Amino acid sequence: MSRQVVVLGAGNAGLCAALAAREQGAEVTVLEAAPPAEHGGNSAFTAGAMRVAYSGADELTGLMPDLTPAEIAQTDFGSYPRAAFLDDMARVTEYRCDPELTDVLVTRSMPTLQWMRGQGVRFMPSYGRQAFLVDGRFTFWGGLAVEAYGGGRGLVEALFARAARAGITVLHEHRGVGLTEEDGRVSGVLVRQGRQPSVLAADAVVLASGGFQANAEWRTRYLGPGWDLARVRGTRFNVGDGIRMALDIGAMPFGNWSGCHAVGWDRNAPPFGNLAVGDGYQKHSYPFGIMVNAAGQRFVDEGADFRNYTYARYGREILAQPGQVAWQVFDAKVAHLLRDEYRIREVSKVTAGTMEELARKMGGIDTDGFLRTVRSYNEAVTWAVPFNPNVKDGRRADLPVPKSNWACVLDTPPYTAYEVTCGITFTFGGLRITPGGAVLDVAGQAIPGLFACGELVGGLFYFNYPGGAGLTAGAVFGRIAGTSAGGSAPG
Ligand SMILES: Cc1cc2nc3c(=O)[nH]c(=O)nc-3n(C[C@H](O)[C@H](O)[C@H](O)COP(=O)(O)OP(=O)(O)OC[C@H]3O[C@@H](n4cnc5c(N)ncnc54)[C@H](O)[C@@H]3O)c2cc1C
Repeated sequence: MSRQVVVLGAGNAGLCAALAAREQGAEVTVLEAAPPAEHGGNSAFTAGAMRVAYSGADELTGLMPDLTPAEIAQTDFGSYPRAAFLDDMARVTEYRCDPELTDVLVTRSMPTLQWMRGQGVRFMPSYGRQAFLVDGRFTFWGGLAVEAYGGGRGLVEALFARAARAGITVLHEHRGVGLTEEDGRVSGVLVRQGRQPSVLAADAVVLASGGFQANAEWRTRYLGPGWDLARVRGTRFNVGDGIRMALDIGAMPFGNWSGCHAVGWDRNAPPFGNLAVGDGYQKHSYPFGIMVNAAGQRFVDEGADFRNYTYARYGREILAQPGQVAWQVFDAKVAHLLRDEYRIREVSKVTAGTMEELARKMGGIDTDGFLRTVRSYNEAVTWAVPFNPNVKDGRRADLPVPKSNWACVLDTPPYTAYEVTCGITFTFGGLRITPGGAVLDVAGQAIPGLFACGELVGGLFYFNYPGGAGLTAGAVFGRIAGTSAGGSAPG
């Protein structure tokens, strides 16, 4: 009889785990708490950007064979060596990321994306968001050249289609609530379909049900006061179930439990993500303007680094401002550089011909404080250094809160201000796994029959996160956990 594998959660990580377990010949059932219209988890809300180590354009064209010769000729992909990916993980996590897990993430990033391609996922270059057209050429920066065709939605639908063809059963509106054990090993999942409880037996269980970001009580308990006030960027179903189920049978908590990924998010966005808008409520072009609070004061270095290395921690900074609100202010010179999310219908934006008028329209801001900030910022910009959005150009504004790159005088109307609050993406704390995806107990021993992947794995991200690492981590450890759960050692 085939091995029975149950996967909890049908996001990117869970679907990769299911497909990998099926490749080992297992009978696979995926339990998904959401109804079909909301399936795909946080993964469906993404732009599909995936961080992958690559040696140069040749390796990328292998992953994206649809690229035309004209596109290749017009693009400088550079390279993103494994060492650079490792450095980025270490630097942004302040050298706390688990070295073993990080090494697996980096070294298996390209082979895993190639495997995903074999599963029917198509990739394309992240033009526009990750490369600007300067002097007729696109130059990629920040280690993030690849995204899934069709964004997160395209990614998960490709995986769902493959799962259906592979004979994997997906049970929607089936929420896992507990684990059963027999003879010292995990033997199944306690399930609720509506109020109806049942037990699904399994030889192995893979937990892939995301973090606890959609649980206001856990957010406040672990991230701290004020986090109950954050908007949730993605699915409402990631409430920490898989983590709790594992802790209940003795799993080890691991990683940055007080940390999370959180960004600047439209002030009027709904409490949870809206799949029709996807990640459009995010506002990530702040490196080209200034960000001020209700006192009219700047509070972060908007140009500290490329957006990919600062955006995931600036949500926390916004949450700490009075009223949990901030405004991003730009002038017309940089309007063409603003990401597509600034041009959606559901945007909290005001426009004016003068800064005084803008301040009045912003509402709720200290007008004098704001005008003082703009004046002192404009006076501090180093004109001598040329502006270049594709590199860290060193065009600074030396102020008590400095701006280290891309500082441009705000002098060209119309001026625009976008009102943002904090949007939480996912939590960093979770379970401890081996490089083979097995969940460890508090004594450091693998719990027989229990595996985990995706957001609920602790130890990879601390304080911050390099953009595009979440989907890659989910796919890498999903494939590994599924292979292990299917009965084989991951190759
Ligand atoms: C708006 C937004 C944009 C993002 N953009 C990017 C990006 O471009 N690149 C990137 O790398 N990352 C991005 N991320 C982060 C990325 O989404 C996550 O890191 C990744 O998708 C997590 O995958 P996962 O499979 O672990 O979780 P999910 O995709 O969230 O899947 C978890 C699934 O488990 C289900 N579930 C929860 N509890 C239960 C239960 N008890 N029983 C059964 N099922 C359950 C959920 O319904 C969900 O379907 C973004 C996130 C958001 C919200």
